[in-house]
Amino acid sequence: MTDTYGGPRTGRRPGGARKGKGKGQRTGGSRVVAVRRSAPVVREPVALPPVLTVAELAEKIEATPIEVIKELMGMGIMASINVQIDYATAARVAENLGWETLEDVPEAVQAAAADFESRRQEGQTDPDAVSRAPVVTIMGHVDHGKTKLLDAIRQTKVAEGEAGGITQHIGAYQIETQGRKITFLDTPGHEAFTAMRARGAQATDVAVLVVAADDGVMPTTREAVAHIRSANVPIIVAINKIDLPTANPDLVKQQLSELNVIPEDWGGDVPFVEVSALQRMGLEDLLEVALLVADVHELKANPHKLASGVVIEAKVDRSRGPVATLLVQSGTLNVRDIVVAGATMGRVKAMFDDRGRRVRRAEPSMPVEILGLLELPQAGDTFQVIEDERAAKQIVEQRQAQKRAESLTGERGIKLTELYNQVRTGQTAELRVIVKADVQGSLEAIQAALLKLNDSSDEVKLSIPYAGTGAISESDVSLAVTTRSIIIGFNVRPDVAAKRATDAAGVDIRYYTVIYNLIDEVKAAMQGMLAPVFEDVTDGYAEVRDTFRLPSGDVVAGLYVLDGKITRNSRARVLRDGTVIHEGGIRSLRRFKDDVREVAQGYECGLGLDSFNDLRVSDQLEFFHREEVARN
Ligand code: GDP
Repeated sequence: MTDTYGGPRTGRRPGGARKGKGKGQRTGGSRVVAVRRSAPVVREPVALPPVLTVAELAEKIEATPIEVIKELMGMGIMASINVQIDYATAARVAENLGWETLEDVPEAVQAAAADFESRRQEGQTDPDAVSRAPVVTIMGHVDHGKTKLLDAIRQTKVAEGEAGGITQHIGAYQIETQGRKITFLDTPGHEAFTAMRARGAQATDVAVLVVAADDGVMPTTREAVAHIRSANVPIIVAINKIDLPTANPDLVKQQLSELNVIPEDWGGDVPFVEVSALQRMGLEDLLEVALLVADVHELKANPHKLASGVVIEAKVDRSRGPVATLLVQSGTLNVRDIVVAGATMGRVKAMFDDRGRRVRRAEPSMPVEILGLLELPQAGDTFQVIEDERAAKQIVEQRQAQKRAESLTGERGIKLTELYNQVRTGQTAELRVIVKADVQGSLEAIQAALLKLNDSSDEVKLSIPYAGTGAISESDVSLAVTTRSIIIGFNVRPDVAAKRATDAAGVDIRYYTVIYNLIDEVKAAMQGMLAPVFEDVTDGYAEVRDTFRLPSGDVVAGLYVLDGKITRNSRARVLRDGTVIHEGGIRSLRRFKDDVREVAQGYECGLGLDSFNDLRVSDQLEFFHREEVARN
């Protein structure tokens, strides 16, 4: 927050510090020319607002709009004169044209940000802070019993003394045990957790990792560990399904130890609790451990303040309008408060607790559903109460403009080429790599070879936040965003959801089929010598719905185009269970009896591949072409 709204700073080098971008973004030559041209002029840094139009920027830096547009094009951004751009982008343009910049943030926005930051950081230091309930998220592999566990806890603890008490789903609930409260976020799985983190929110104090005792550590278990670790949140392991005769808790302990999640009774620092969600065994122990972990971390907040916190869920209710579940993290939220949540606001008209009861106030760690927001915020947006309605409006306008500008230029991921640029301009850098491979053997070989690169590089430190087998998933992409990693796929491809997420987030995914090439390219980037020449550009995705054998013996597949298009000149990759089993050209592409040059999304077609006759129903095909990438 301070980074974005910390107010004007003098002489900050734009772009570079925040996104690791900007410096050396263009080829060395033209950048040097730009700087040299302006070198003799001694100017005051120019103050730029968080969002401005191309025309406004041009005026402020005494350039023509055309010059600005050209600079933007050099950065790969197509913008016309009235398009709004954000500060980071404007600053890069200004720098290229020889200006130092500083960010000029409106007073109301600045004050709100400072206020939010101080509310968030009060924790231990605020003398009025009192202890608050821990907020717990349950994560783990599918079918290991997350939902069952959440339900079991809710039923034993919420319904107590409340015959027939109906709990309604608002995305979070609070229970009471030993006279103390615990808040559970009710969206199991780490998608919610990472989506929030990707938006800069941290709602969870304690993560409960559920592992089924009969199934052990699975891919999503590993992912969850990586997510929890990168968020620096304490873990409790719940070994579930302990009632089964095939339960093997020791195996779970051993497997998790290999991931450095070491049980306390094995000398580590992670509490393990054996439970059966089905038979409601061990739940008390689990809750007690959660409270103990909370005590160790001395969770506190000051309830005597205006409220702030995070949006857990939001949806439009047909009769009630936008409804949002908020988790109060600090202060007390009251009915009639003016709330700014993400890029929207509203006055709280009514408030309900997790059992649908009307409440008038909500204290720290309490989840509540509120009515009154004008539009839907997003899960993971932060919210805060603002006293002055005019200031609230100003903040919202500002954020909406920022959002628009970011959707034009906003890339949150990091690219391998950026690393190369950082190294070339003498900045030390860290390269984080998420590795996905088709089989465990290659995965291990790749990990070892990548980490070994550290021995020969002083400038760049390489680390691997997560490595696993299987297709590249949406969760890998969000982990890449939160940890600012690139993703390396070895003989694997992203599924359609992951591909969309990648495009939206601007994460760099690199695919290899030869380990040597993979290592070589990463090594080159680390040494600032990378010259990425070709990049695969995806044309579309299709699915095999049917197959036919022609009299010639060749197999033709009936395809349905799921996304994008297929062109006659595309190359095709055949994916079975997320693994690439063939790559090659197209032999024939037909609609009905006619040869066609292109087939678009939503249509069916017949397809034969060069030298591959093993297409099967439900194989996924990715179509792509190679493009030469300008070194930027
Ligand atoms: P989730 O995908 O992690 O949310 O898993 P669910 O809560 O849906 O549980 C998956 C399956 O495991 C369901 O059939 C549950 O009934 C079963 N299950 C969950 N907990 C237990 C348990 O403690 N013991 C046994 N035997 N089965 C369980």
